[in-house]
Amino acid sequence: MTDPRIELISSYIVDVADFPSPGVVFKDITPLLGCNEAYQACVEALVDLAPGDVDVVVGIEARGFVFAAPVALALGVGFVPVRKPGKLPRDVYSQSFDLEYGKDTLAIHQDAIHKGARVMIIDDVLATGGTVSATTKLIDRLGAEVVEIGIVLELGFLGGRAHLSSQGINNIHALITT
Ligand code: AMP
Repeated sequence: MTDPRIELISSYIVDVADFPSPGVVFKDITPLLGCNEAYQACVEALVDLAPGDVDVVVGIEARGFVFAAPVALALGVGFVPVRKPGKLPRDVYSQSFDLEYGKDTLAIHQDAIHKGARVMIIDDVLATGGTVSATTKLIDRLGAEVVEIGIVLELGFLGGRAHLSSQGINNIHALITT
C-alpha cells in the first residue's frame, strides 16, 4: 500500500522550467515548507527512514537544513551543517564536486562529528549525486560512518543513485523518485 504522505508531499513540490539555467527543471520545495501538514508529513517520513541508532543528522546547505534540523530534533540527536565555502568560522575540511548545473565546494567543521559516530545525511533533491558524494567524503574524513541517506526527491533520470553505488554508497532512500 502506498504511503498517503507521499502523495501529499509530491503535490506541494512545484516544477520550475529553465531555472536556474535553460534545460534545468528546478524542484521548488518552498510550497511544501509553507504547508504545515505537508512539511510535517515530510519530516515524519524522513524520520521513519532513520535506523534506530543514529548519533547525528547532517544537513546540506541550504535546503537540506530545513529538513535535517527537524529530523535531528525528532530523533533526539544533534544537527551538523555541511556548508558552502567561507561560511563556517573554525577549521574545516573541504570537498569540491560537479553539480547538475556547475561546480561547487562543501565544508564541515573538523570537530563537528566524533570518530565512529553513526550519521544520517539529509538533503532535498538527489540529482547527479555529486553533493551527497562530497558530503560522504567529508564524513569519512572525520572517521564517522554514514548509515543512512534520506532524500525528499530523487531525479532518477540523472543517475545519481548509480553514481553513488559505484562509490560503494548504497544506503540511500528517497521519499519520491521521478
Ligand atoms: P547533485 O549534486 O547533482 O545530486 O545535486 C543535488 C543538490 O543540488 C541538492 O542539494 C539540490 O538542492 C540541488 N539540486 C540539483 N538539481 C536540482 C533540481 N533540479 N531542483 C532542485 N534542486 C536541485
